[in-house]
Formats: sequence, structure tokens, C-alpha cells
Amino acid sequence: MVIVSFSIVHLRIKLSQMRIGVDLDGVVANFTKGWTKYYEEEFGKKILEEDITSWGLSEPLTHFKEEIDFWKWAKNINGASIFRNLEVYENAVETLNELSKSGNDIIILSSKPWWSIHDTLIWLGENKIPTKEIHFIEEKWTVECDVYIDDAPYQLESFIKHVPEKKVIRFVRSYNTPINGVIDIKEWRELIPLLNSF
Ligand SMILES: [Mg+2]
Repeated sequence: MVIVSFSIVHLRIKLSQMRIGVDLDGVVANFTKGWTKYYEEEFGKKILEEDITSWGLSEPLTHFKEEIDFWKWAKNINGASIFRNLEVYENAVETLNELSKSGNDIIILSSKPWWSIHDTLIWLGENKIPTKEIHFIEEKWTVECDVYIDDAPYQLESFIKHVPEKKVIRFVRSYNTPINGVIDIKEWRELIPLLNSF
């Protein structure tokens, strides 16, 4: 009798588990708020979130000629990279904790540059992001997950192209647009009800 009960409990937990692939910048970490704040401090130009209407950080949004010029600046701002001191989005950590506590695995999928890795690992620790698995990877779809959450248009398209059978969620931002087959959310508090509906 005891064994049967255990089996039922085990089955119930197994069914509710998901591997949730979560991007960091623009999803958990408020990269936009971070870089625009430092940009204004250094170059005197205020850039609002709604001004960022396409993917990319060079001209005409900033004065940087090429994307690489932006990243050269972002690599060292007051002795640390841009990724060292980013705020978390409202309800992001709370939601990830709730998902983790209910048996899901939070898989961090980030395509950040190599020089950001140490700062990002410190950031993940400081912000107590509940993960046991972190990938720094461009081809995110190659990491097996049930659900992928991202804000980058090219990553969302890549998930739909390579793993169309998976659930793909776009975090709606001013610089991305709807994609066929991708589910949109605007706030972290929408995520758990959405996952429960799958
Ligand atoms: Mg992102």
C-alpha cells in the first residue's frame, strides 16, 4: 500500500516537471535599463525604452558605428562589464523560485560574449536565481527544454525553425514583434498560468 502511494506521488511530480529554458537579458535582467543609464551618464543622451524599436544597439540608436563598438564600450564600464550590475525585472525571481519549488528545472540559456561570463555567474549568485544548469550558447535550441523564453527575434525564429514542437514564449519588448507559433507574455506574473494551461 505504501509503495503504491509513493508511486502515485512520484508520477504526479514527474508529470508536472518541465525543463524551462530561460534567457537572461531582456527577460530576467533589465539590460535596457542598465545600458541606457550608463550611456546617458557617459555620453549625455537619454534613450527611452520605447525608442528602441528594432534589434541592435549601434547607429542610429546610439553613436556607435557598429555593434562591436557598443560591446567594446559595454565590456568595461567603471571597471566592470555591463552585465555586472543589472536590475531584475519585477516578479522574475519570485516566479522562477515558484517554478523551481514546484519541481521544474530552470535552465539558463544565454548567448552573452565570453568576457561577460564571470560577471554573469556572480550576478546569478547575487540575485539568487534558482538554477543548477547554465549554458552560454548561441544555438540555444540545441539544449533540450520543454519551454523556451526569450526576447531576441533571431532566437525566437531559431526555436520555431529547429524545434517547432516545443513551446516558445516571447517576452514582449519594444524591439521585438509577434512571430507565428510563438506565445507572447508581457509580464512575469503571466508565466505560471500560461505554463499550467499547456
Ligand atoms: Mg535576451
